[in-house]
Amino acid sequence: MDANTSAADAAFLADFATMSLFGATGAGGVDRQAASAADIEQRRWFAGLLESHGFTVEYDRIANQFGLLELVPGAPYVIVGSHMDSQPTAGKFDGAYGVLAAAHSAFRLKEAWESGSETPVYNLAVVNWFNEEGSRFAPSMMGSSVYTGKMALETALAVTDHEGITVEHALADTGFVGTGDGPLAIGCAEIHIEQGRLLENAKVNIGLVTATWAASKYRIVVNGAQAHSGATVMEDRQDALFGAALLVVAARRLADRFPGRLHTAIGQLDVYPNSPVVVASQVTLLLDLRSGDEDVLREADEILASTFAEIETDAKVTVVRDLSHSWGINPYQPAGVDVSRSSAEALGLSHMDIMTVAGHDSTNMKDLVPTVMLFVPSVDGISHNEGEYTKDEDLVAGLAVMADVTRRLVLGELAPTTSESEEKELS
Ligand SMILES: [Zn+2]
Repeated sequence: MDANTSAADAAFLADFATMSLFGATGAGGVDRQAASAADIEQRRWFAGLLESHGFTVEYDRIANQFGLLELVPGAPYVIVGSHMDSQPTAGKFDGAYGVLAAAHSAFRLKEAWESGSETPVYNLAVVNWFNEEGSRFAPSMMGSSVYTGKMALETALAVTDHEGITVEHALADTGFVGTGDGPLAIGCAEIHIEQGRLLENAKVNIGLVTATWAASKYRIVVNGAQAHSGATVMEDRQDALFGAALLVVAARRLADRFPGRLHTAIGQLDVYPNSPVVVASQVTLLLDLRSGDEDVLREADEILASTFAEIETDAKVTVVRDLSHSWGINPYQPAGVDVSRSSAEALGLSHMDIMTVAGHDSTNMKDLVPTVMLFVPSVDGISHNEGEYTKDEDLVAGLAVMADVTRRLVLGELAPTTSESEEKELS
């Protein structure tokens, strides 16, 4: 690295330290759920950062935040970024790193292009997608889902949090709700922490994401009957919490049947009435199944359905399941993986192909335009935890690749094929 690059890297790390102060928790993490005070404050700070580098800040109608750099009047935009919202008591790298790496990539490129050495063919937009995490307002990836037309704006704005506050209400008076649909995309790139330990185990700097794991997300309601928790004889009980507990165990045992190939989780339980002397009458759970193999996911779904019948008999409850959200294995454009591979090689960084288990905003974007997704290592694979950590050297290596990928995209190296642009017009 030359002295100049080191100064640019130091500037990046300093901005990252500043951005991590918003919603900072005692144990080194952040709590920055979508449209919370910390999220709002951080977005204001980020707008200022973009403006101070000569970018124009704009919002679409679902509050996605864009920093626009117009290089070719009227041309579409290469959109680079991630999300700055977090889970409650989460790590400071998830999403936030990707937004800042995209911004600093854009700052470096703007400077280079101002010297006139290369001729961009597209414009460049840095994005901070609204509500990627979906912890306060479900589902996740809300902003990019609306942007890509996968979720209706009205549906997203009407989603409520636990207190009954709608997205629309939470965003009112923030100044983050625009009147348009955001810049027109021609390509996209996102960099993110891996949130797993494959890169670390392989001692590799950069993950080139080739595809997403498939996922099925269910909302499950277990219905029983409210009763006195002391007086009601055991055989008369229709205990919804007992049924839910069996389901929690069943989900875990299901994953054990497909070692390394299936991830299952129940991340939320709402118990009613959740009172000390009452047998619960209703429990609502959110269950996720994920796999890198669609056949495994299908088989797991079938096993789960038969488990429900057993639980209904065992706990004298009914189990109702709605599919709330699902996606299949979905490849990123191979030409984009090639672009990122050649960037990593040009920079002398080790790399490997990898699939993403988690959903990302780029998962949505890749269905709209050619999209590149990059990973940097997560120490011990820890994520959605205040102990999430990525080393500085990995952060700046990822930034270098991100800047080079962004440069290539803006120079037109990953132009959509004719059939892709026709498809987009038709959909
Ligand atoms: Zn994320």
